[in-house]
Amino acid sequence: MDLGIAGKRALICASSKGLGRGCAEALAAEGVHLVLNARTEGPLEETAAAIRAAHGVDVVTVAADITTPAGQAAVLAAAGDVDILVNNAGGPPPGAWSDWDREDFIKALDANMLTPIALMKALLPQMMDRGWGRIINITSKSVKAPIAVLGLSNSARAGLTGYVAGTSRQVAGSGVTINNLQPGMHATDRGLSLAHKRAEEEGITFEDAVKEASANIPVGRYGTADEFGAACAFLCSQHAGFIVGQNILLDGGEVNATM
Ligand code: NAP
Repeated sequence: MDLGIAGKRALICASSKGLGRGCAEALAAEGVHLVLNARTEGPLEETAAAIRAAHGVDVVTVAADITTPAGQAAVLAAAGDVDILVNNAGGPPPGAWSDWDREDFIKALDANMLTPIALMKALLPQMMDRGWGRIINITSKSVKAPIAVLGLSNSARAGLTGYVAGTSRQVAGSGVTINNLQPGMHATDRGLSLAHKRAEEEGITFEDAVKEASANIPVGRYGTADEFGAACAFLCSQHAGFIVGQNILLDGGEVNATM
């Protein structure tokens, strides 16, 4: 299927690895020019070079922490007028309800709620003026089914989800759609780090920890960044203009719910 977005430009935050990179690869395969971002320059440049070589699109890189005002300003300056925005950043650390104080919540809200809101606020006006835009926020399955040890993530991402629910409907008439992708377990550095942690805690092998985690997923395995990227690219396509304000679970059926 031709997604009809060749020649468009996309800003993909936190995209040198993992799910962000999966989105970048899938959009580049459709002929979309990219602005990529991550904090660490080396892997960011390697990813950019690999994507240029594989897909022949323009790739601009900005090494910056997207959760800081300075990082956002640098990324926005390099991005200019983009047609597609994919919001992403690292997730907050795990813990227990009794661990977190005001500062921990402010940090999580800054990273996983206020940063994507700031980038949407900055880029929506020019998308609306041109009558076309696609915004995807990478959130988590924890918005639908809480992960107790990720209380900071549950809270911040739920806040972003509420913002998107209203805002997506305010801007849809201008040809701009905003949707959230909710990843379940994916075989990325972050996803696999949880299996490493469990293996250490339980004194089992990493392979057994992955097998244990996969047993809770009806598909029987972790998701891949490629699958995730393909879903993102479809939501950014010409064909997805009627999909507005949705929260789409990519979890292999792990969340056991009827709707
Ligand atoms: P990952 O494999 O660790 O990759 C994270 C990417 O984001 C890297 O390119 C990293 O590069 C960049 N990054 C992290 N923090 C950044 C920041 N502050 N500013 C700019 N770039 C940043 O992680 P992932 O698995 O793709 O996860 C992406 C998001 O999805 C996270 O928020 C995670 O919590 C969420 N999620 C993941 C899963 C899963 O199973 N993988 C499940 C649910 C939710 P640098 O380190 O160089 O900055």
